[in-house]
Amino acid sequence: MNSLKEFIFDIFFTGGRLRNKLFFMIVAIALTPLVSVSFLSLYTSTLSHKNDVAIIEDNILFQKSVEIQNFIDEILSTFKIHFNLPLEQLIVKEDEEITYAVAKKDLNNILQSIMEENSFIEETSFIDASILRDKNEPTNVYGLEVAKVSKNGENSEAFSSLKNLSYFQSAARGKDYVSEVFFTAKGPMVIIASPVRNDMNRIIGVLTGQVNLLGIQKIVSRTQFGNSGYLYVVDREGRIVASSRERGSIKPTNLSGLALISDVLLGKDRLGIEGQGRFTSFWNEQVIGAGKKLRSLDLSLIAEWPVSDVDSFINTIRNYMILFSVITLLLILVSSIFISHRIVHPIEILEKGAERIAKGNFEEPVTIITRDEIERLGTAFNSMMMGLKEFRALKDEFVFIAAHELRTPVTAIRGYLSMIEDGDAGPVPPKIKEYLDPVMQSNMRLVTLVNDLLEVARQEAGRITIQTAKIDNLGMSISAVIKELKPLADKKQITVLYDDRAVKPVMTDESRLKEVMVNLLSNAVKYTLGSGKVSIWHDVRENMLVTHVRDSGIGIPKEAQAKLFEKFYRVQDERLRNVTGTGLGLFIIKQLIERMGGKIWFVSEPGQGTTFSFSLPLAF
Ligand code: ADP
Repeated sequence: MNSLKEFIFDIFFTGGRLRNKLFFMIVAIALTPLVSVSFLSLYTSTLSHKNDVAIIEDNILFQKSVEIQNFIDEILSTFKIHFNLPLEQLIVKEDEEITYAVAKKDLNNILQSIMEENSFIEETSFIDASILRDKNEPTNVYGLEVAKVSKNGENSEAFSSLKNLSYFQSAARGKDYVSEVFFTAKGPMVIIASPVRNDMNRIIGVLTGQVNLLGIQKIVSRTQFGNSGYLYVVDREGRIVASSRERGSIKPTNLSGLALISDVLLGKDRLGIEGQGRFTSFWNEQVIGAGKKLRSLDLSLIAEWPVSDVDSFINTIRNYMILFSVITLLLILVSSIFISHRIVHPIEILEKGAERIAKGNFEEPVTIITRDEIERLGTAFNSMMMGLKEFRALKDEFVFIAAHELRTPVTAIRGYLSMIEDGDAGPVPPKIKEYLDPVMQSNMRLVTLVNDLLEVARQEAGRITIQTAKIDNLGMSISAVIKELKPLADKKQITVLYDDRAVKPVMTDESRLKEVMVNLLSNAVKYTLGSGKVSIWHDVRENMLVTHVRDSGIGIPKEAQAKLFEKFYRVQDERLRNVTGTGLGLFIIKQLIERMGGKIWFVSEPGQGTTFSFSLPLAF
């Protein structure tokens, strides 16, 4: 694998590549379920959490309302006493003197034992209800308090007439009574009243008591839900009677202004998920609240749960979900990179193999080990390459043999034709000479083609031998070539100038070098239409001697420049219709120069001329 940096660059920036496509496809396929599952579970857990919150608040409200109800019921039940008196009256009144059917002492004992039964009863009293009835309104009963015991020892002796007190009136008519809450230094209190009956089930009196609601506070104060959910009890007017929020003394704070509380006070229970509201509590905190009114007592229970606490649970779930998603995403990314690499890498190997074959290199088979179809494809690819290699060898062999066999007869024809033309076989009549010239020219072209083909075939079969040696007088070799080609140049009025001042000894194969020079010079002359100038000179660059051949010819079109050294390539140009050639010269000399350790290149401006340059290693 390439370096990680290149690899990541490949993934993200070389668009349109199969690797990228696969990568994004795998990521998309894996991400879709991940995202939908995450959202779905977040959604369902939020929903079920909301439900849980509602259930917890409701349960607390129900449970605590039962406990408070039990507390009051228990107190009421201790007030349920009854006298074993067959009489209708408890108290007998004679001559303005009061005589008791029940001894005062016994009454006091009864009251004392009631007080001892429940520590929250602050005071009890007994009211005689038997005698004082309103004659005009028989239902209107007057009572006389006949005994009273209180915690602070204020046991009353003086009897007072108690008329129209609502708690007395209610109990005297047979109904248990629980008063409104009133606040004292000892805490919030209620008055409880209960009828006292005799054997005949007649109401003969009323037992009343003052009950301290700290008993309710005791029930409520133990309540907590979540980390900071709390519960409180308000009276009919919305004043706090008990609270798990404030453990100390209860102040009669009025909360009836809150929408939740005013609703509950009106008798509208706010329970279940619908009954839940988010609002700012009296203590300036965002809370989720629920409320319930106690039916038989004028008290309401309110549960409030700070949103920050409620949501912390869901936030924890969400954070875990995000963490989980990020880790999964990273795993998906990493595995997508590796999966796409695993799939694409062998394809890239095949691609590179195919590129090598295109360049004619059949020597390097591809190596793919995937133990699947792609590995089999690699094996088939290698067999195909071997087949091509054999095919090319056969072709080279064929071209070589054909060219080789053609050369002898073609050269022989040239010899005989020259002899005929020179008059060795007698004078040549003008008509025959006229036909002989094109035959000669065609034969010349055939000779060049056969020679070039032979040269290419030799090169491709690796039959060319190059023997480099130190050549001190490169200038002389070049001058010899110039001299050889001078008649051609003169014919076209092309001057050839050679500046050999910078020439240096080089490592080269002299005869091959001459081939190169013949080729370049004859091209310079061939591709200069009309008269012109050819210059040859040298310079030295980094241990190489560079030879330049500049002409003032037609130049090479830009689009043709990349293909110039290819086998059989010739520039298509109307003006070159009569210029013969094979397209093999440059291909051959490029191989020769490279085999001698040099390079060849050119710079050309169409219409201005071309400069071919080649380098050879300096000899020291
Ligand atoms: P050819 O036998 O056609 O000359 P070469 O391989 O020597 O084959 O050259 C290939 C082609 O390159 C030529 O056909 C010609 O179009 C172009 N060419 C080569 N040398 C020159 C030059 N000096 N000026 C312009 N074109 C050239």
